[in-house]
Amino acid sequence: MANDDYKGILVYIERRRDGTVAPVGPELLGKGRGLADKLGAELAAAAFGPGAAELSAELFAMGADNVYVVEHDLLKDFRPRPYAKALAQLAREAKPTVILAGATTQGRDLAAAAATYLKTGLSADCVGLEVDDAGLLKQTRVSCGGRVMSDWVTPEARPQFATVRPKVMKALEPDRSRAGETTHFNVDLTPDDDVGEVLSFLEAKETVNLGEADIIVSGGRGLGNPEGFELVRELAACLDAAVGASRAAVDAGWIEYAHQVGQTGRTVSPKLYVACGISGAVQHLAGMGTADVIVAINKDEEAPIFKIATYGIVGDLYEVVPALIEEIKNRRG
Ligand SMILES: Cc1cc2nc3c(=O)[nH]c(=O)nc-3n(C[C@H](O)[C@H](O)[C@H](O)COP(=O)(O)OP(=O)(O)OC[C@H]3O[C@@H](n4cnc5c(N)ncnc54)[C@H](O)[C@@H]3O)c2cc1C
Repeated sequence: MANDDYKGILVYIERRRDGTVAPVGPELLGKGRGLADKLGAELAAAAFGPGAAELSAELFAMGADNVYVVEHDLLKDFRPRPYAKALAQLAREAKPTVILAGATTQGRDLAAAAATYLKTGLSADCVGLEVDDAGLLKQTRVSCGGRVMSDWVTPEARPQFATVRPKVMKALEPDRSRAGETTHFNVDLTPDDDVGEVLSFLEAKETVNLGEADIIVSGGRGLGNPEGFELVRELAACLDAAVGASRAAVDAGWIEYAHQVGQTGRTVSPKLYVACGISGAVQHLAGMGTADVIVAINKDEEAPIFKIATYGIVGDLYEVVPALIEEIKNRRG
């Protein structure tokens, strides 16, 4: 099939367990709207699972021209295999030239499998998307722990498939007057497509929503002991922030893995990232190097984290952090 047969942009809409739209969906629709306008093409959203049809109006307001509703018993809870098969079937039918999904835990799982079914490539974890002069999707990725930005295009394979970091793209102001077309897409799934069985969902001991947090305060081995995280949590509470951690702190058993930021943890792009006692190893920077503002507190002025920090504080975190907490409390009255 010729590449010219592929048109438009398809955004996979991630849903939370309560069925609501996760924030990365509107962010991708906001970016997708601009790309679709530049290509002179349509922007479609794909919402899976029970109750997906009820999301249409919200997705039109966020910029979608079409909403594909994909409801099937096997799509009740997210599992990579049936979801990826459904997305691949939809893409074969709708033939978008671009598919976008969030670089979230769910989106990464889904996109890798769906791209395999579609025999196309995948640019994972993008932080920028543009249309180049040839009409190709220019996909910007971060490498070398945030030191290198590289642009990728996919001249041959279709669809051009990318996952995008949450909080990098901007959602549009919802326009409730916008309308569009809702299409119910029937997928062909059999029980064989569902190799696992969901027995139950266990709530994490502590709610960690690093991907959606505007502010993150993270602690590393420099805390010296697990109790150090009490100080990190106190600063986080002052700033309405989520708590992150380096792998060294997680490996030491000071905090749960769900808090780990970095190559083998969560990738985050908050407005503000405060690193307390974290050296700035490339594997940590890979997960937070795109934060808008980075504040590093470290007693070693040669620590690599200072190379990417917006503001660096050289000092003992056990002196600096309590002083910060006191100042914030004073200013907030
Ligand atoms: C394949 C692979 C994947 C990895 N994935 C990740 C990942 O996802 N995330 C991650 O974080 N790491 C990851 N790592 C580990 C990474 O290489 C580093 O070992 C780790 O990030 C170091 O954590 P840290 O900065 O907390 O500890 P350290 O490197 O030991 O740094 C501690 C810092 O605290 C400072 N310090 C000490 N005491 C104080 C004090 N009182 N006040 C202020 N500063 C103080 C020190 O000067 C030092 O800079 C990975 C490694 C590999 C090989």
